[in-house]
Amino acid sequence: MIDTHCHLADKRFDKDREPAIERAHAAGVRAFVEIAYAPAIVERAHAIAARHPDLFLCVGVHPSEAGRVPDDYLETLRDHARHARVVAIGETGLDFYRDHAPREAQERWFRAQLALADEMGLPVVIHQRAALEETLTILEETRPAAAGVLHCFDDGPAAAERARALGFKLGIGGCVTYGHDALEAAVRSAPAEMLVLETDSPYLEPEPRSLRRNEPALLARVVARLCDLRGWSADEADRVTTANARALFRFPLADGA
Ligand SMILES: [Zn+2]
Repeated sequence: MIDTHCHLADKRFDKDREPAIERAHAAGVRAFVEIAYAPAIVERAHAIAARHPDLFLCVGVHPSEAGRVPDDYLETLRDHARHARVVAIGETGLDFYRDHAPREAQERWFRAQLALADEMGLPVVIHQRAALEETLTILEETRPAAAGVLHCFDDGPAAAERARALGFKLGIGGCVTYGHDALEAAVRSAPAEMLVLETDSPYLEPEPRSLRRNEPALLARVVARLCDLRGWSADEADRVTTANARALFRFPLADGA
C-alpha cells in the first residue's frame, strides 16, 4: 500500500515517529507522501526522508497558511520542487470552512502553485473544504498538465466525474469509513484507476476511531472498507491503488514492482 497523504513531521509524532513508520511497514505500507504544506515543515520533512528512502515529499502552501506566507516564498518553493525526492506540489486549494486566510490570498497561492506544478511537470495535491465548486472551477479553467489528486475526497459521483474529466485521482482515506452515502456511491462507481489511498495522519482516524490519532499503519482499515464497497480482495485493492499512486506520482521505488 502507498499512503499518498500524511503529515509525519507533525508534532503529534514527536514521541513515536520511528515506531509509527515501523508499524506502517509491518502493516504493508511501502511508500509515503509527506505533505510539507508550509515553509517551516520542509526541513523537518527532509530530515525524515533522509532516514527513509520510501518517503517522498509534496511541497506547497496550504490554503490555511496562505495569509501568512510571503509572496517571495514562491521562489524558495521552486527550489524545493527541484529536489529529487519531491513528487508533487501542495497541498493547495481553497478552504472556506475554517477561513484561516483571506479568500483572495488562498486563490492567489492556489493559482501560483498550479502554475508552478505545470512549470515543473509535477501533479498537484488538492485540499478543499466547503469550496468544492470554486476549487473545481479553477481546476477546470487551468487544467493542470500532470493532473493530481483531490485529497480527502468526500463527495459524490458528480464531483468524481468532474475529477475524472480532469485526469485527477480521488484520495480515499478515513472518510470512507464514516458512513457518508454520497462518498460511498462515488467510491463504488468511480473508474478503478482513479482511486488512491491516503491517511492524512495524524488527522481523520478511520473507524472505530479508537486511538485519537491516525497513523499510516491504519491504512488497513481504509482498505477493508474499500474492499467492502468495491468487492475487492485486500491484494487487489493494494495492487490497484499502488499502481494508481505510482502512475500519478512516478516515484522511483527500488524493487520496481
Ligand atoms: Zn493534509
